[in-house]
Amino acid sequence: MRKVNSSLKINPEFGIIGGMKMIDGKKLAENLRAEIAAKVAVLKETRNITPGLAVILVGENPASVSYVTAKEKACKEAGMNSIEIRLEESTTEEELIKRIHDLNKDDAVHGILVQLPLPRHISEKAVIEAIAPGKDVDGFTPVNIGRMMIGEECFIPCTPHGIIKLIEFSGMDIAGKHAVVIGRSNIVGKPIAALLARKETNATVTVCHTGTPDIGVYTRQADIVVVAAGRPNTLRADMLKPGAVVIDVGVNRIPDPSKPKGYRLVGDADTEECAQVASAITPVPGGVGPMTITMLLWNTLQAAERKQAK
Ligand code: NAP
Repeated sequence: MRKVNSSLKINPEFGIIGGMKMIDGKKLAENLRAEIAAKVAVLKETRNITPGLAVILVGENPASVSYVTAKEKACKEAGMNSIEIRLEESTTEEELIKRIHDLNKDDAVHGILVQLPLPRHISEKAVIEAIAPGKDVDGFTPVNIGRMMIGEECFIPCTPHGIIKLIEFSGMDIAGKHAVVIGRSNIVGKPIAALLARKETNATVTVCHTGTPDIGVYTRQADIVVVAAGRPNTLRADMLKPGAVVIDVGVNRIPDPSKPKGYRLVGDADTEECAQVASAITPVPGGVGPMTITMLLWNTLQAAERKQAK
């Protein structure tokens, strides 16, 4: 780690990690989670409603177990009810959909999340479509995605929503900027491109993917780069315009015998190198991840408030 230059003028909203200007996702998440917890307390006190989030995990994929555990912990810390449903790897698609239908009818459950990926014998599409749109706090159902695209009330998918908050937190005014998104998955690339291009956000958006011959041609023109490829070193310093804001969504496990778990996590950008050119960059871990969980809490609170309003 390089020495931190103490004379560096630091935006109080940024953390400094190894002397680099990092967008501190943990800190932003902490602030927003405190705000959410305060709203949960008001809902309990004034309406006697405790938002409830059902988290379903099928099987024991180690990464999924750790994501689910973090979500359940955050849910309890915010004062919400966490309904933890662990199912055997051998669970059938029919059984899983039946559980979802039961949760759809349960008034104590405001949000339903099915941790992906699912075992191969279960269709993710069928399972996602079984979740009632009013409880789809991940924002993955076609109804929610469609509503988001046409600007109607919806649950915005958590990772893209968190990314918007992180860019705003960096101090970058998104309106009028050129944003390049690397990746076009249904859960990250496509929704973040759509959100950035909305009239209220007003960025000009380019989407790159494996069919893009030279991604650097686009990223070198970008004020904002969101990289969600799931490949380390997809974004290098020579692909950036000086002063760009970089949001690194990737989470990649690199074998590392020096670490207690035998691996370390890296993003899709070469962080140290890109931080020399960017005006700000999210670290991995500690950038997008904590914000994804925070926006899940936010959507669960919204679900409870909307139900109460009806
Ligand atoms: P995904 O479904 O695998 O999609 C990856 C996308 O990136 C695809 O569109 C693919 O293009 C594109 N891509 C892959 N390699 C590329 C390359 N070398 N150059 C350009 N484009 C490339 O992944 P995802 O679900 O969007 O997730 C992306 C990463 O974000 C993963 O590391 C995941 O673990 C992480 N993630 C983190 C969070 C969080 O909360 N921190 C949340 C979600 C995802 P094609 O379409 O052409 O194949």
